[in-house]
Amino acid sequence: MTREISEMSSEPDPIRRRSLRTPAELVAAGLVAADSRPALERVAERTAIALTPAVVDLIDPADPHDPVARQFVPSIAELATVPEERADPIGDEAYSPVKGVVHRYPDRVLLKPIMVCPVYCRFCFRREAVGDADGTLSAAEMDEALAYVSGRPEVREIVVTGGDPLMLPPNRLADLVARVGRLRHVEVLRFHSRIPVAEPERITPALAGALKPAPDSDLAVWVSVHANHPRELSPAARKGLRRLAEAGLPLLSQTVLLKGVNDSAEVLEELFRALVRNRVRPYYLHHPDLARGTAHFRLSIAEGQEIVRQLRGRLTGIAQPTYVLDIPGGAGKVPLTPQFWDGENGEVTDWRGGKHAYPPR
Ligand SMILES: *Cc1c(COP(=O)(O)O)cnc(C)c1O
Ligand code: SF4
Repeated sequence: MTREISEMSSEPDPIRRRSLRTPAELVAAGLVAADSRPALERVAERTAIALTPAVVDLIDPADPHDPVARQFVPSIAELATVPEERADPIGDEAYSPVKGVVHRYPDRVLLKPIMVCPVYCRFCFRREAVGDADGTLSAAEMDEALAYVSGRPEVREIVVTGGDPLMLPPNRLADLVARVGRLRHVEVLRFHSRIPVAEPERITPALAGALKPAPDSDLAVWVSVHANHPRELSPAARKGLRRLAEAGLPLLSQTVLLKGVNDSAEVLEELFRALVRNRVRPYYLHHPDLARGTAHFRLSIAEGQEIVRQLRGRLTGIAQPTYVLDIPGGAGKVPLTPQFWDGENGEVTDWRGGKHAYPPR
């Protein structure tokens, strides 16, 4: 499905291993049992599959509970759906004025120039929309998307997502940065990407340079990296992050809280510390969305809050993301921060559980 994309790339394609894209390839690689193949073919009819060599290298095939495999290797559990799940859990469709744009909040829009990804995360909230090369905006559609923003001076920020926008070749990215730089009311251009983890070899000097605005531009370009487990910050991923940081791009991260992957304070602490060490500021910890066939990844909000509560105090403040829920249907994101303040009794609870009157009595 992404063949077109790699041919579009301006980089000469190095001799490298290919991504795994079919149940047969996963069986051959020893990542799934041969007898699960017929069921996984049904999963493959509904959603795209891809594991890059970088991701395959992070997996221990001998570990049946491997936290990286769980994120990318399809599972029979995906065939089960529960009534509250949706094809479009956060209501992108309802808030899309033109192809490739989602406008939910007054001051910012999402721009989705491309709908393919280097990997297909099994918990993805857009899992029924991604993986389709037809979702890539044509030149005319991109013009229309930018014209929409151009006509709306209240839009201060463009959040580029997809799919994974860093799948675009550097010349297309540089063109986007330059065009957005000419929209005088747009102050911030933010890219969301899984590439630094999933295909770090794409973070070339050319790509980092393409994201960097012109020296005389007032546009700020931010990059938010999707990472869920400390093991994802491999030496190659760290090198890519360094390259982005050294290009002067402020780095954020997004993590999805996932059962069996990172649902403990210990794992999240290790992940957030590793991100901060690599100059990435943890931004959001997402409660998993109600995408179809993802019940096996979800924990309760109460469980999530208990984990987040444990992080407070034991982990530096700059490594604490905001725990958020994207309200099903499209009403937007809200913080799920656990409460430390009990207004009724005029009491705050510290991170060790100690109680304090406020104001002090
Ligand atoms: C998540 C999202 C954003 C960005 O929200 P922030 O809270 O600014 O990170 C913007 N638009 C839409 C439609 C979104 O879903
Ligand atoms: S990289 Fe992002 S958009 Fe693509 S499958 Fe993973 S979570 Fe979904």
